Amino acid sequence: MSLQTITLAHTQGFCAGVDSAIEIVHLALAKYGAPLYVRHEIVHNTSVIRDFELQGVVFIEDLSDVPDNTTVIFSAHGTAPEVHAQANLRGLKIIDATCPLVTKVHRQALKFSERGVQTIVIGHRGHQELLGTSGYIDPALLFIVETVQDVDSLVLDVQKPIGYLTQTTLSIDDTRHMIARLKERFPTVEGPTKANICYATQNRQDSIKELAEICDVVVVCGSPKSSNSNRLRETAANMGVPSYIIDTVEELDFSWFEGKVHLGLTSGASVPRYVVDAVVACLKTRYPTIQINEETTPEVGIRFPIPAI
Ligand code: SF4
Repeated sequence: MSLQTITLAHTQGFCAGVDSAIEIVHLALAKYGAPLYVRHEIVHNTSVIRDFELQGVVFIEDLSDVPDNTTVIFSAHGTAPEVHAQANLRGLKIIDATCPLVTKVHRQALKFSERGVQTIVIGHRGHQELLGTSGYIDPALLFIVETVQDVDSLVLDVQKPIGYLTQTTLSIDDTRHMIARLKERFPTVEGPTKANICYATQNRQDSIKELAEICDVVVVCGSPKSSNSNRLRETAANMGVPSYIIDTVEELDFSWFEGKVHLGLTSGASVPRYVVDAVVACLKTRYPTIQINEETTPEVGIRFPIPAI
């Protein structure tokens, strides 16, 4: 028995935030030329980063690596206000490629701290988005949780206001459990009506759940740092389907498909389509009679504004 079908997730690949961030770098390259400095990987995808590096984009973490009187682009994941302040102090021209849906979370964080709300941020410690969002919260009011156990360990002053925010790219199911536990422990906790999980994360997770119902193995294209890609793999794995994540086609391992018939293939919100196409082409070579199933995405026409370059 060998693979007979590949079904592509109907919603996958670039979201509007990633699309905008990438367009911003292209426009800035056209206007300012190379070298062009970007603080942090513009989006978490190895192929995108490599392509930009070949065009003269320099990815840095520390602003001290940016020469004076130059332009710096801030990545889609959002940047803490202290980094904006440092860049302003240096006189650097900032082009901010933060996704507007992340900016919305920053605004909520800021409002909470202005009101003295103890703010629980549900997310992954060390992830760039969380670092940026945390920067908008008074450190004395900031509590980061990654698991239900972390929620159980929280020590808060119940006489004072309590609120929560979430990273935009989390697992919907994991977040739901943590929020439910938060509400149990702190019935007055304030939060967004739903988690701050963005439309792209929601749609891609819904889509992989559909795939996992009809496939006996799943492959997700996505880079190791990509939160939403990792959550896609976990979502399918939690449904009992063997699931693998690959950064590029070279990481494909045919032993995963032994005894399998229906492969589901998807990609995270920062993955260019050519990465998925390369996987499909490779599988077609290996399994010449394989049938490819793909539906059109319902996610069309979503565009975010581009800032002045
Ligand atoms: S995954 Fe969501 S929050 Fe992140 S860039 Fe895309 S739309 Fe914005």
